[in-house]
Amino acid sequence: MVWGYTNSILHVDLSSRSFKRISVEPDTYKLFIGGKGLGVKLLMDLTDPGIDALSPQNPLIIVSGPIEGIAFPAANRVGAIFKSPLTGFYGEAYAGGFFGVEVKKAGYDAIVVVGRSDNPVYLTVFDDVVEFKNASHLWGKTTFECEDMLKSDYKGSQIICIGPAGENLVRYACISHDSGRQLGRCGCGAVMGSKKLKAIVVSGSRRVEAANPNLLDRVKVEIIEKSRKTHQGLMKYGTPAISILTNTTGSLPSMYWVDGAVEWFEDIGPDVLLKKHYYKSSTCYACHIACRKHSKADGFDVEGPEYETWFSLGTLCGVRDSSLIVKANYLCDALGLDTISTGNALAFTMHLREKGIVKDVDVSYRNPEEMLKLIEMIAYRRGFGDILAEGVRRASEAFGAAYEAIHVKGLEPPAYDPRALKAVALAYAVSCRGACHLRHIAHRPNLTSQHPFNPEVKVDRLSYTGQAGIVRELEDFYAVIDSMILCKFHALPGIGPILWNELTEIYKAVTGVEVSKSYMVEAGERINNLVRLYNIREGLRIEDDSLPERFFKEPLRYGASRGEVVDKGEFIKMRSEYYSIRGWIDGKPSIDTLKRLNLSSYIKA
Ligand code: SF4
Repeated sequence: MVWGYTNSILHVDLSSRSFKRISVEPDTYKLFIGGKGLGVKLLMDLTDPGIDALSPQNPLIIVSGPIEGIAFPAANRVGAIFKSPLTGFYGEAYAGGFFGVEVKKAGYDAIVVVGRSDNPVYLTVFDDVVEFKNASHLWGKTTFECEDMLKSDYKGSQIICIGPAGENLVRYACISHDSGRQLGRCGCGAVMGSKKLKAIVVSGSRRVEAANPNLLDRVKVEIIEKSRKTHQGLMKYGTPAISILTNTTGSLPSMYWVDGAVEWFEDIGPDVLLKKHYYKSSTCYACHIACRKHSKADGFDVEGPEYETWFSLGTLCGVRDSSLIVKANYLCDALGLDTISTGNALAFTMHLREKGIVKDVDVSYRNPEEMLKLIEMIAYRRGFGDILAEGVRRASEAFGAAYEAIHVKGLEPPAYDPRALKAVALAYAVSCRGACHLRHIAHRPNLTSQHPFNPEVKVDRLSYTGQAGIVRELEDFYAVIDSMILCKFHALPGIGPILWNELTEIYKAVTGVEVSKSYMVEAGERINNLVRLYNIREGLRIEDDSLPERFFKEPLRYGASRGEVVDKGEFIKMRSEYYSIRGWIDGKPSIDTLKRLNLSSYIKA
């Protein structure tokens, strides 16, 4: 036994209704840490190139991390690794809560689900006992209903499940946990739905301990003390706190990527959420921050809105009514839809309506309440909703409006306009899962004008200089964070409190393995290179590392960054610099890079 790990993977085949326990070589943990790193390696090794993401061959890989199971703030997340049905490339999604902890306590570092059941099924995993259960009575239920029913049958267990959107293979369906936590992006809910797998119920009795509990306790006390000072905004407002910075800098995407701020910010901003909607806070396993805010509006009761949801169902759609955002949030969570992609799909429709390209829909900037109906139509693939259920890229092809569509590699972007934040422009373009904020959190150094790991160095958000190095270091840092699977709100650029040194100390304390910062940096780099190889294997080309044309051609219309575009020449220079720092040639890892990172066995991949 290596401290921090179970050395075991549960491999489940839904087609044959069989399962087995697989041992993990210690070298795998040395090289890939666990969590994301372990998941990427399994995805690469277990699949043939070019499989359909909704086929039985696509594994849904649920990962826990080496710290999980120990009461440590931030160590409470679960990840899903899979091929994305939305992008056709690498897909991953994470959520906080309690599920990852329970997987670990049940004795597994990962659960790999392959195959497809003929009938709806759910899985129960109680330590070594794995059972396939009939889920016909759960099929069709919302995520809230499903979780409530299973919770009453399996008291004390933890549950992940899908809603109708996942059952109906909406390409951006999510997996839900703890009535409000979402493994949100890239369509993992559709992968689960394609397997006819409604839910996984887990309970474990294993005790998880750290190799050096005294060291871990010291780090724990330090990071709790620090974050009590630096994370006041998050504790009070939850994630919408960041909207104050994005609206002020003109980087808050509004009116489907036309404006960078809204005039009516005071009508829907964090103070309104706090005074009018929030009624309680909750937290994930062992976390003192309790950033999870719960809202009520007109009889709807939901955890959120998170900042990303607030923007996508709010400013992006021109919504001036905070209650409407809360209601739309509730529907997306109940039906199991990723709010970022859903909000983008709704706003895209409103934008096309404004341009006269789409006519046969009721929703518009003047009539945003209709979004509630359209959300249901998407989840059940009814009428116009069936087109939007395919995601913005495919919908834009159906409408003959590819130029208007905003996505990278098929993934709709989160809440940071890259015209106002040049590191984000690069980070969206090269990110492994498409337009993504969480692989790098590059918006923060741009918004705070501060280098993520060196506060002495100033960062100019509108300059193209120096951003490539920042993006690369952030990507490697967060590859390690996602492999230990820690909550990123405890590891924010600039303020941490977990930065490289703390990360190294935590890993040492839990696993007992003496590691240095450079060891961790290299592990992050290795994981990112393996993901890159997977994407290249699945057809990624240099053209895919780019941005929607509108960001190059259409200046921001409103806000402090008014007039800004992404200069194409500067962008290409920035991307070349990034490739060069990474040791990539035209976006492909060089043979020397792969050898240096101990990835030689993948050279032909
Ligand atoms: S900061 Fe928020 S999301 Fe992260 S672990 Fe704590 S409560 Fe959960």
